[in-house]
Amino acid sequence: MSHVIAHILNNDCPHCLEGKVFNEKSIFFTIGFPKMNKFCSRCQFKFEKEPGYFFGAMYVNYGLTVAQSIATYVIAQFFFTETFDLRIIPIIGVVIIAMSSFNIRLSRLLWIYMFKNYSS
Ligand SMILES: [Zn+2]
Repeated sequence: MSHVIAHILNNDCPHCLEGKVFNEKSIFFTIGFPKMNKFCSRCQFKFEKEPGYFFGAMYVNYGLTVAQSIATYVIAQFFFTETFDLRIIPIIGVVIIAMSSFNIRLSRLLWIYMFKNYSS
């Protein structure tokens, strides 16, 4: 199981584990909308199996964003005396914007890995 997570974070093709899903080498520390390969450069595995295939990845992205927002709230509340300090909300907003590019990549990779064994 841990090697699957390593391959997801390493941007590896789910079929051959050697090609890359996104053009960027790392899914971390990149800004802007991701540039995704249509096919794996090694095994020609088609990443977008059908039009709108990544619509479902949007729900994964939403789940990731909510989880990061809750984690940010839990961490940030230690720095404020009140439990529901409104100054935490812009901090959560900054974290969401900062993580958005990474979340798009991660959610699509998770979506590809979840359905890699289904053929269209
Ligand atoms: Zn491949």
